Amino acid sequence: MTKSNSTRLVVGSRNRKKLLEIAQLLEPHGIQVVGIADFADVPEVVEDGDTFAANAAKKARETAIAINEWVLAEDSGLSVDVLGGAPGVYSARFSGEGATDERNNQKLLKELAGQPQEKRGSHYTCHIAVSSPEGDIRLTEEGTCRGRMIDEARGANGFGYDPYFLIPEFHQTFGELSSAVKNQLSHRARAFQRLTPRLVRLLLAEAQS
Ligand code: IMP
Repeated sequence: MTKSNSTRLVVGSRNRKKLLEIAQLLEPHGIQVVGIADFADVPEVVEDGDTFAANAAKKARETAIAINEWVLAEDSGLSVDVLGGAPGVYSARFSGEGATDERNNQKLLKELAGQPQEKRGSHYTCHIAVSSPEGDIRLTEEGTCRGRMIDEARGANGFGYDPYFLIPEFHQTFGELSSAVKNQLSHRARAFQRLTPRLVRLLLAEAQS
């Protein structure tokens, strides 16, 4: 049986904005979030799965085994209806080698050029997997959030495709909405709302075993 370090959890991501969102979602529940940047020599996980679920499980398992810690990994992305679900699992590297949020957004805008509002429906997906230090996936959860892609960036909050992702009910993009609101509505928030009570129970039970 594995002794865990209290309710400390390593998040297998180098994306600082994503990490911050995850810390904001978990820390109110007494879980101390640590990023992999705090560990030396963590191997890069190749995200070659066809699904968010496959990539999240692979990231969680390989990272946990490498550092012998409980690891939460999430794979997330944007799927646009009229593009057949693209960029999907390729969201982070949509514009190819050396992709940045800026270049990804420019490519997406080009592909959506001329599409009317009603064809711009899209959703974000967040799939989470939690692995034991031995590499067993012990929890999984998924959340989605519907929106519509717009043509001009609005707002500087969030990251990735957020300035172009409009939540029609709020008439604002994720770039404009505060982090408090995004942390209630987003794909990530929805997945964590379901996962967190189970995660707290699991980590507490492991800390006591
Ligand atoms: P991952 O780190 O491999 O899961 O890639 C996630 C990518 O999906 C990010 O680099 C963004 O391009 C996109 N993405 C995921 N979640 C969000 C979000 O909450 N806002 C904006 N973009 C997101």
